[in-house]
Amino acid sequence: MKKLITKKDFILLLVVLVIGVVWILLGNSANKGTTAEIKVDGEIVETISLDGEFLEKEINGVTVCRENGEIYIKEAVCPDKVCVRSGRISKAGEGIICAPNRVAVEIDGKNKNQLDALTG
Ligand SMILES: [Zn+2]
Repeated sequence: MKKLITKKDFILLLVVLVIGVVWILLGNSANKGTTAEIKVDGEIVETISLDGEFLEKEINGVTVCRENGEIYIKEAVCPDKVCVRSGRISKAGEGIICAPNRVAVEIDGKNKNQLDALTG
């Protein structure tokens, strides 16, 4: 009697399934940032991971917060509050700038070099 699916077929199917799941996960996280670089006058003064508990840092009059893998500016000593209204960022390449305080927050991702290689 011949079985429709042999043990060997089942293992092969499982491997294909795992590769598929990993591929989807990698694809979805391609643009996901890993760290946030906080710059003052273009100089990195602080690098914080996007993962972790709620974090609040005050840099040059700007309060930068990390929450649920996202970065946002809670409050800032600036007249326009453009930075506060910029909302939350979490993807590689995204950024928030507070021009009056010369503070910039940029998201960096581990796939950045890979993307550069593909586009460049
Ligand atoms: Zn601002």
